[in-house]
Amino acid sequence: MNSASLDVGDARIEVVRGDITKENLDAIVNAANSSLLGGGGVDGAIHSAGGAKILEECRRLGGCATGDAKITTAGNLPARFVIHTVGPVYRDGKAGEAELLASCFRQSIEVAEEHGLRSLAFPAISCGVYGYPISQAAPIAIETVRAALERTRSVKLARFVLFSEADYSTFEEALNALS
Ligand code: ADP
Repeated sequence: MNSASLDVGDARIEVVRGDITKENLDAIVNAANSSLLGGGGVDGAIHSAGGAKILEECRRLGGCATGDAKITTAGNLPARFVIHTVGPVYRDGKAGEAELLASCFRQSIEVAEEHGLRSLAFPAISCGVYGYPISQAAPIAIETVRAALERTRSVKLARFVLFSEADYSTFEEALNALS
């Protein structure tokens, strides 16, 4: 079965396998680069499925620092908003990568809270082109989101959407380690 979940008070974390561009939650999170002007991987998939409107809004945002997050509407996507966050490029694990990765999840949830959103979907931020080993990133992602959900007012669902079976298994394992 390709889904797993964990209740966190009255909120919930889910781990599913799928394509994040198909999610119809309040927001999907994009693993963007600091220009916010588009790229490959999940970023490319979001812009190509969402259409030019997202890029047009991104142009007005003036980029985004690593670990930070900014919001646009979602163009033609089923979600209402896209929250663009910039993960760290993985070097050797000693360059503050873990803290920056955790910050992406915290800031994305903070932006969702500012907009009163209830549900959002995350990809495996930094685990593609940016080279973060997914076995290290998954526990950071899950634990950071769990801690954040203990304090959220509006956000009640955080869904991790993993593209490959292997990535899904790694996140499922990290979720099970908490429950
Ligand atoms: P980064 O530059 O932050 O590493 P990437 O887009 O290269 O971002 O990869 C992040 C993760 O997103 C990878 O695990 C990749 O498999 C995954 N991914 C790519 N396309 C999609 C998609 N459509 N839905 C969900 N995840 C995706």
